[in-house]
Amino acid sequence: MKVLVINCGSSSLKYQVLEMDNEELLCKGLVERIGIEGSQIKHEKIGAEKFVLQTPMKNHKEAIGHVMDALVDPEHGVVASMKEIGAVGHRVVHAGEKYATSVVIDDDVIKALEECTDLAPLHNPANILGIRACQEMMPGVPMVGVFDTAFHQTMPKEAYLYPIPYKYYEKYRVRRYGFHGTSHRYVSKRVAELMGRDIRDLKIITCHLGNGASLAAIDHGQVIDTSMGFTPLAGVAMGTRSGNIDPSIITYLAAHEGKSADQILNELNKGSGIQGLSGVSSDFRDVESAANQGNERARIAEDVFVHRVKSYLGAYFLLLNGADAIVFTAGVGENDKAMRARICSRMESLGVKICPERNDVRGREALISTDDSTVQVWTIPTNEELTIARDTAELVG
Ligand code: AMP
Repeated sequence: MKVLVINCGSSSLKYQVLEMDNEELLCKGLVERIGIEGSQIKHEKIGAEKFVLQTPMKNHKEAIGHVMDALVDPEHGVVASMKEIGAVGHRVVHAGEKYATSVVIDDDVIKALEECTDLAPLHNPANILGIRACQEMMPGVPMVGVFDTAFHQTMPKEAYLYPIPYKYYEKYRVRRYGFHGTSHRYVSKRVAELMGRDIRDLKIITCHLGNGASLAAIDHGQVIDTSMGFTPLAGVAMGTRSGNIDPSIITYLAAHEGKSADQILNELNKGSGIQGLSGVSSDFRDVESAANQGNERARIAEDVFVHRVKSYLGAYFLLLNGADAIVFTAGVGENDKAMRARICSRMESLGVKICPERNDVRGREALISTDDSTVQVWTIPTNEELTIARDTAELVG
């Protein structure tokens, strides 16, 4: 079965088509600036030249129309007709407490996702637009929702409840949800395969370190804690997000700067993290090169990031009562050997020893710990699209 995977943002849309009989990626693409001047689609049939088309796209339905044209294009396409697409898998950010696994989308599912929009106002509306556009353009084709929050639904109450008045959980479902679940799920399953072990026998700490970053403690296949919370603003420092801060800072800064709490929150989301601290960039490569050239604030930004990641690693070692594996994934985790080495430095007392030669890798699966490290440390490129396609094929097939 061929599965179309859709990851819809407010003005962009990423897609892939996979042949699930052998899990082969057939094509991938990106539509940008939907509803804005300068809309374009970049389409790549695997093994062929990329093709770029600039054309106005007023809305997501028009964008999906251009994706479908690209998929059946005689030169760049991968199917003779859209009838060959057996199902569509949609990435959806927030499913609240409703879904702990992926589900086939029906009217009830859409209604439940709509009820979660005020929990993820930037993401869920776009995800729902993408689902509706596909339903209109591909009538009768089954659709599956794969949720960033789902994998973390196994967290116990003591991990997901905030110590605030219980009525706010009851009234508004204010609690910790966690995000990047599809990535944490993929790499934890994959590391078990690479170790030749059953995930139900393993204690794993997964570190998804990209522009957005989160860690998860996975006990015998089940998440028992993760660093993000009610929203993806929580946890470690990120590219532009602050991660955890004392909430009193918001009202203090609002009063002293003459700004609203919303404006401060916007700064915590978009102007903080390594960008806010360094004043250089939100991109770890830029900050690292500035630090190497002697930029003191860039160095401090890196130090804060490392400190925060280490703090979670330490906490998760305790919560899991030890760990069998640590996995690094996403842009920084997969590519940045210096950052991995710094995060894992001075962890010998916990049985973590990085091998400098093995750690000299980028963007591929590799064991980077020494043979006598009691905790295996791995880099594993994440593959959320493959996970979405697998769930879709399984539920529909
Ligand atoms: P992601 O959000 O997973 O795409 O990750 C984006 C982040 O990964 C950016 O901050 C990049 O600077 C970082 N990144 C990508 N490649 C490298 C690299 N070779 N070395 C350091 N950081 C990298």
